[in-house]
Amino acid sequence: MANPAVLRITSLYVHVPFCAQKCAYCAFYSEASGGELVNRYTAALVRELELVADDLKPKTIFFGGGTPSLLNLRQWEQILGAMEKLNLLGAEEFTVECNPATVSADKLKLFSDFGINRISMGVQSLDEKLLDRLGRIHSREMVFKSFDILRASGFENINLDLMFAIPTQTMEIWRATLNEAMAMQSEHLSSYEVIYEDDTPLFEQLKAGEFTVDENLACEMYEELISHATNAGFHQYEIANFARNKTFNLQPSIFNLPSHACKHNVNYWRGGSFYGLGPSATGYVRGVRSKNWSNTQLYCDQLEKGKRAIESSEELPPLRRAGEIAAFGLRMNAGWPFEEFERATDFDLRNEWSMEMNQLTERGWASRDNEKFQLTHQGLRFADSAAEMFLR
Ligand code: SF4
Repeated sequence: MANPAVLRITSLYVHVPFCAQKCAYCAFYSEASGGELVNRYTAALVRELELVADDLKPKTIFFGGGTPSLLNLRQWEQILGAMEKLNLLGAEEFTVECNPATVSADKLKLFSDFGINRISMGVQSLDEKLLDRLGRIHSREMVFKSFDILRASGFENINLDLMFAIPTQTMEIWRATLNEAMAMQSEHLSSYEVIYEDDTPLFEQLKAGEFTVDENLACEMYEELISHATNAGFHQYEIANFARNKTFNLQPSIFNLPSHACKHNVNYWRGGSFYGLGPSATGYVRGVRSKNWSNTQLYCDQLEKGKRAIESSEELPPLRRAGEIAAFGLRMNAGWPFEEFERATDFDLRNEWSMEMNQLTERGWASRDNEKFQLTHQGLRFADSAAEMFLR
């Protein structure tokens, strides 16, 4: 039983490691698999939920992947039914990632019956040739159709994922995708530049000289993204994330977050604790970071023996953890209010990282006042380099 004096963890991530086929750029742990292994995974996940349920009272839940929407109705019923029994439902924000090719009205009905209230749709592009290039299984028509089904099923909080700087993507194609995506009127938008990860087909093609990377074009595409999203009424609150603000007349939070910002991800960027379940998932609970085995068979074997499938765990030294939290938080437009950082880490940003803050401010990448430190528009473009300076 959990110690009632210890506050329970309020954030849960579940990794679903299956995809219909592997995309050309993807380095996430997922496999193209079906049949019996998915049933075994479902039972193992239920077992893992049982093992941590006493320490959880989720305010945010996120099922990511892989392709969670690939699980069939029966498998979803098993997982959501178990969560209901374990008192894990009722989260303020409950997101499931969906591929446009795997959305169906009956699955969505089940989702809303169990309190899933946010859908994140992996669109990536609305150009047929680029979708093919990326190895995606869906077509542009499927995106529009799925979006209509989501709305007809009552979902009022939908994220669209888009990708830019895809090989052969021109500015004209990117603009057309942005225009069409904005016209869909989703509540949230996430958009990332393609990255070339080792061991992916796209990386191999790059190495073989099949295309080159145009960094200037990528920068221009990022600027285009920001201006389209802003003109369409989105508020940028993180380097790659934009949300609508539909809650008027409310005091803005100290982070000035729009109402439809992804609360689950904000918890990561603010250094909060979370459980991570499923193969390859990482968790961070009260100063201890752990990682599950990136092997679905092994994950199932362990849980069938009644054990969590943890490959490694480490307790981070407080200063190292504070450095990581500083770095993560700088990805957000709001940066770090000094008091908030101290509440999260017990360290004062102004003492420990004074030199780094000065350097970034002099470079024009950051600004500071008496209350907070934040990256500028230019600094956000180089947030990874800026954030690295805070690591200890
Ligand atoms: S659907 Fe997502 S997780 Fe699956 S292979 Fe494609 S990018 Fe990776």
